[in-house]
Amino acid sequence: MASPAAAQARTVLRVLALRPRLLAARSQAVQLTTRRWLNLQEYQSKKLMADNGVKVQRFFVVDTANEALEAAKKLNAKEIVLKAQILAGGRGKGIFSSGLKGGVHLSKDPNVVGQLAKQMIGYNLATKQTSKEGVKVNKVMVAEALDISRETYFAILMDRSCNGPVLVGSPQGGVDIEEVAASNPELIFKEKIDIIDGVKDSQAQRMAENLGFLGPLKNQAADQIKKLYNLFLKIDATQVEVNPFGETPEGQVVCFDAKINFDDNAEFRQKDIFAMDDGSENEPIENEAARYDLKYIGLDGNIACFVNGAGLAMATCDIIFLNGGKPANFLDLGGGVKEVQVYEAFKLLTADPKVEAILVNIFGGIVNCAIIANGITKACRELKLKVPLVVRLEGTNVHEAQSILSNSGLPITSAVDLEDAAKKAVASVTKK
Ligand code: GDP
Ligand code: MN
Repeated sequence: MASPAAAQARTVLRVLALRPRLLAARSQAVQLTTRRWLNLQEYQSKKLMADNGVKVQRFFVVDTANEALEAAKKLNAKEIVLKAQILAGGRGKGIFSSGLKGGVHLSKDPNVVGQLAKQMIGYNLATKQTSKEGVKVNKVMVAEALDISRETYFAILMDRSCNGPVLVGSPQGGVDIEEVAASNPELIFKEKIDIIDGVKDSQAQRMAENLGFLGPLKNQAADQIKKLYNLFLKIDATQVEVNPFGETPEGQVVCFDAKINFDDNAEFRQKDIFAMDDGSENEPIENEAARYDLKYIGLDGNIACFVNGAGLAMATCDIIFLNGGKPANFLDLGGGVKEVQVYEAFKLLTADPKVEAILVNIFGGIVNCAIIANGITKACRELKLKVPLVVRLEGTNVHEAQSILSNSGLPITSAVDLEDAAKKAVASVTKK
């Protein structure tokens, strides 16, 4: 299923692909832990940029074709660009369920803008970064189009291997940056930034030059780079990606596209930004899970997995596969656990009609297993659980937990270890 988190993870991985040292295992862990990262639409990111001195086009954002027409007239521009607002990238080359090709369109005629908007709003847009069905478009951006004489790529990201921010740029922008990274790695330029010193003038200038900005454009690009960096810091971003970071024939450096990722741990001091997240592209179940501080990941098998921690989630997934089964989803309980979360988790897991068995695999490091056991038994009784339940608990207070389960009189299958749990869960769905 397409979800902003999946798209987000893909974007992260795309940029991370520039880091040769990244391990496949790590990339999967990134995917699992990005589930609740904040995602903003292009128009929201551009508003933040405009408010902080970064050059973007004048725009309106609308949710009906009529408003698109009105906005196009109001902009009173030589040419208009109409852009579908979804979180996934690659919109330009996407295709709508209405048959319209391209999520980004240029036109000089406001009436045409209205007609195009009609074929975008309410339809799904499928791109390289979405599922086949695509993502429903609820809003479109109507912006003043500018001629582009050159498209470059520019991003700022937090890079673990550099212990801080890195500027990444390529004179070959507009296109897929991972393709450039693969075919022309010498065209990818990086500047490590000291978080205390910030971007030095020399670094901004060098990046502008590497991006191919010449003459007065070089200073302008360097200035935009510094402003983007200031924004990056101010809003606790983990990534700001501008592709294309372009140049106009009139001699302007403009951010034509924007993708910003945020540090979830900064939510407490970035309340206004986090309030912009409408979760509109989340699966309803992801939003529901987030309400209880749970991370939900939908998959397409039939064994629901209730785990704590991304690592254990992946191990559980692997071992189910190894034993011939397929996980239906993951629900990650994380660290601090309350009984009510366990109950809500079961409610979410069993609401999925694909689920034919539940496998609980909890390691009680911080978590007290007895709390889990109480949550499980309460959920089983109140939700009148109809599918087989296999439970593997290990760690803190596990003996008390096991006696709670075995004295409950409920049809719960205990497992001694992960292998045993996977075997029993797979057997319970293949038996039927
Ligand atoms: P993406 O496909 O989702 O990355 O969407 P972008 O916002 O990057 O737009 C895709 C492409 O449309 C860009 O690479 C540009 O080539 C083109 N484009 C976007 N805005 C404009 C504009 O104002 N003028 C012109 N001439 N082209 C634009
Ligand atoms: Mn783009």
